[in-house]
Amino acid sequence: MVLTELQYPHIMSQYLKEIPPIFYSNETGAPIQRCLVCDSYLLDGAEYIIEKAVVNYPTVGTRDLVWEFALCMDCMEEITSEYSEESQQKMSQYFIENMNMGHLRELKEAENFDVNEWISKCIVKGKAQSDCSQYQLCGHFVGELCVFDHTPFLVSDEAMDEVVQLISNKTLGSMNDFRDRFFPPPEDLSPLLRDKEFILI
Ligand SMILES: [Zn+2]
Repeated sequence: MVLTELQYPHIMSQYLKEIPPIFYSNETGAPIQRCLVCDSYLLDGAEYIIEKAVVNYPTVGTRDLVWEFALCMDCMEEITSEYSEESQQKMSQYFIENMNMGHLRELKEAENFDVNEWISKCIVKGKAQSDCSQYQLCGHFVGELCVFDHTPFLVSDEAMDEVVQLISNKTLGSMNDFRDRFFPPPEDLSPLLRDKEFILI
């Protein structure tokens, strides 16, 4: 939702880099090829976003992917248009007011396009990735390239909990319907996230 709010008037070619493997399909180990909803092919220059939800077990040093998807911009807009205006507004406002874009800007200015640096901490809370029990990754892509500008970024469990508080039950219901439609159990194997709300950032 926030990704469609951010303005991309002109994507500067120097910020377009190869897709980092962390955004590859978990299943194929290659770039995600199709939009989750309309199945359109993405790698020939389409503009799209990828989101992934991860559960982290820092004490044992492992992590699990809960879900991942790519959505073309048209589908992203259509899905978010079903959310209540109030929820959309509150969520956008939350991210606009709380996102620390300075971290991404510094990396960009230093021409540091190591994705691990971009997602090393929560864009809202500054919480280190390794301290999060869950987090979501977001990226903006054009065909076979990743746009290192307002993304990629990580949103921590702590920030997600705050976002949930802002969203109406009706909108949370729409988000969870989306999850259930595309990630029916048992595909989503994480009981942890099944109990949590599904938030499309
Ligand atoms: Zn689509």
